[in-house]
Amino acid sequence: MSAVLEYPFAAPELGGAVPLADGIRWLRLPVPGGLKHINVWLLEDGDGWTLVDCGMDVPAARAAWDGPLARALAGRPIRRIVCTHHHPDHAGLAAWLASRHGAEVWMSATEAAILAALLGTENDPRLALARTEAFARQGLPMSEELRAITSLAGYRRIVSGLPPGIRTLAEGDELSAGGARWVVRIVRGHTDGLVLLHAPEAGLLISADQVLPRITSNVGIYPERDDPDPLASFLDSFPALAALEPEPLVLPSHGDVFRGLRARLDDLAAHHAATLAQVVALVPAPATALEVAGRLFRAALDPLNRMLAFGETLAHLEHLARRGRLRVEDRPGEPRRYGPA
Ligand SMILES: [Zn+2]
Repeated sequence: MSAVLEYPFAAPELGGAVPLADGIRWLRLPVPGGLKHINVWLLEDGDGWTLVDCGMDVPAARAAWDGPLARALAGRPIRRIVCTHHHPDHAGLAAWLASRHGAEVWMSATEAAILAALLGTENDPRLALARTEAFARQGLPMSEELRAITSLAGYRRIVSGLPPGIRTLAEGDELSAGGARWVVRIVRGHTDGLVLLHAPEAGLLISADQVLPRITSNVGIYPERDDPDPLASFLDSFPALAALEPEPLVLPSHGDVFRGLRARLDDLAAHHAATLAQVVALVPAPATALEVAGRLFRAALDPLNRMLAFGETLAHLEHLARRGRLRVEDRPGEPRRYGPA
């Protein structure tokens, strides 16, 4: 079933950079944990650079910016930073790089608001509490571990701060950099306002975490987001991407630059259809999201990945419930149960 994708470029090493096209460089920064790396994109912009995504605020990524990547910049400043979304591997070093270079930071309004909410409640426990309670309502046992995951302290540890005066990007906005015209496309599903950059003439798509070549993006329900059915939003973004002409070379945040966007979208749609069918089969009788997550993800996971697995299970259950393929039972004081329709 897996599509055969083409990987026409050799990836840079961790902390390294390789040219992709005239005026465009592919940089790779270290990320701790299973992901191992994030790709970011450096586009020539007049006498400086536009940077798309920044890396997580961890010592190894700062060291890369101070070492080999400083050479990639060739003494020219970063004028503009585009953060595709608020996740720490994408926006973590934005404030730090912006203050070093005097760069403007650009994001969608939705992502800027989520970033501000996650960073802005240092002495205000309400968002952390809301996160804890939202998960507890869905059956996660109230525990020290749940409080630790939802406290936001972990997020703040790997994000260098809220960049001042974030400029906003909207659907259809255009920017020119790296010798190309880039059109902003805003998609939902992985998060609520993820920015994709499409260069129609150059045939390039910076796909961020929306389309990845080897792993599937996390599509989950999390309390800081508004989308009640992120899986529908995610799948609904596919037709417009499949219709891009000519089929672009894809620059993803994780994995290698690839050709075969339409085949990959078909694969991802098939993957989620199979997972949905599997989830239906896992609830012969009403069960909580926590119970279903335990049946769907059998491997032992660390706390963060357990939360991601739970959010992803919840997204599939809510999607099925909205489509009438599962029935929900809400009883006062008890977590929601999902059962056969
Ligand atoms: Zn992400």
